[in-house]
Amino acid sequence: MLHVAITEERIEGALAAGEIACPACLTALSPWGFARSRTVRLAGEVRSLRPRRGWCGCCERSHVLLPCWAVARRRDGAQVIGEALRLAAAGMGHRSIAARLGRPPGTVRGWLRSARRGAGSLRACATRALLALDPEPGALTPAGSELGDAVEAMMLAVRAWVLRFGGDEEDVTLSV
Ligand SMILES: [Zn+2]
Repeated sequence: MLHVAITEERIEGALAAGEIACPACLTALSPWGFARSRTVRLAGEVRSLRPRRGWCGCCERSHVLLPCWAVARRRDGAQVIGEALRLAAAGMGHRSIAARLGRPPGTVRGWLRSARRGAGSLRACATRALLALDPEPGALTPAGSELGDAVEAMMLAVRAWVLRFGGDEEDVTLSV
């Protein structure tokens, strides 16, 4: 599963132009049908999504290409889950976050658990993206927790993306 930091519409053009690379070997992916349809719950709406598949001729396997607003193996969108992580990093507990976002506490606890478990690699990935976008980003402020540091790095990377390419911060997520 590959996250692409662009919208669904732009995936099609980027795939046709050979601009989306295989995450394993960096060969350009070619269009390869579609993955199964699914619905994604966003902040104020439910969107249906039929993700594009890309084929890597080198690895001989396909990758599901998710647009920036969807999250692999989650029914909720990147904006909702990202907000939960931000609130958790600010010290809010999973029950309060669940109440604020209108999601079941168990679901939110699951997001936070897996984000905390993967906080190190989340942070490393966000930092790599940040440095690719801005080679001199300045010092990162330690947030006091691994998840906090990861969220800080992600927010800085998103900001660097918007400064460089324009657009709305809510339309950008990182590939992890
Ligand atoms: Zn490959």
